[in-house]
Amino acid sequence: MLNITSVASSVTLTVVGSGRDALPYLRNLAEARASVLIVASPGAGVATVLRSIVEAMPPLTHEQAYELQAAYKAAGLEWHGERPVRAPHHTISDAGLLDERGHYRRGELSLARHGALFLDDAIEFRRGRVAAAVKAADKVGAWVVGACVPCACGHAYHDQTRWPCTCTPALTAAWERRFGALVRDFAMSLHVR
Ligand SMILES: [Zn+2]
Repeated sequence: MLNITSVASSVTLTVVGSGRDALPYLRNLAEARASVLIVASPGAGVATVLRSIVEAMPPLTHEQAYELQAAYKAAGLEWHGERPVRAPHHTISDAGLLDERGHYRRGELSLARHGALFLDDAIEFRRGRVAAAVKAADKVGAWVVGACVPCACGHAYHDQTRWPCTCTPALTAAWERRFGALVRDFAMSLHVR
């Protein structure tokens, strides 16, 4: 079941089921390199789904492969010939994410070129960092995918009889403020529930 709503400038899509059920929609977003925030309770399999989408992308052109090789070499890393999925931790610095000189040469975004930059626990990244990555992603052909849980305790989209949400009204209010800001950083948000 699919439900699409548009709130202000960002589009929200709701898929009922698991991460796997969101695959067709995510494939379309990947093709368009449209940044997306996936909102799901733990165990939805977001990382696995993301990897399968990147693996199914068309083969790299010679130019793309050359760029990737150069980017990994600049970072002192080995590139294994595949489209990359980079998943930096939320404690990463601006330099680590975007390269200290702003040329995106050695940061995680540069290493995610022609593949995906996966920002798990996207709500935990320092304010402004996610927006900066989304904005710069076009330059390197990276698809930016964020993931976050639907509430502070993470259980809001789980079966409430088995894993009830334990968030207090105060926790929920604080969460919604941060979440509201995060949603605006992405072109789209996809709720898997
Ligand atoms: Zn909760």
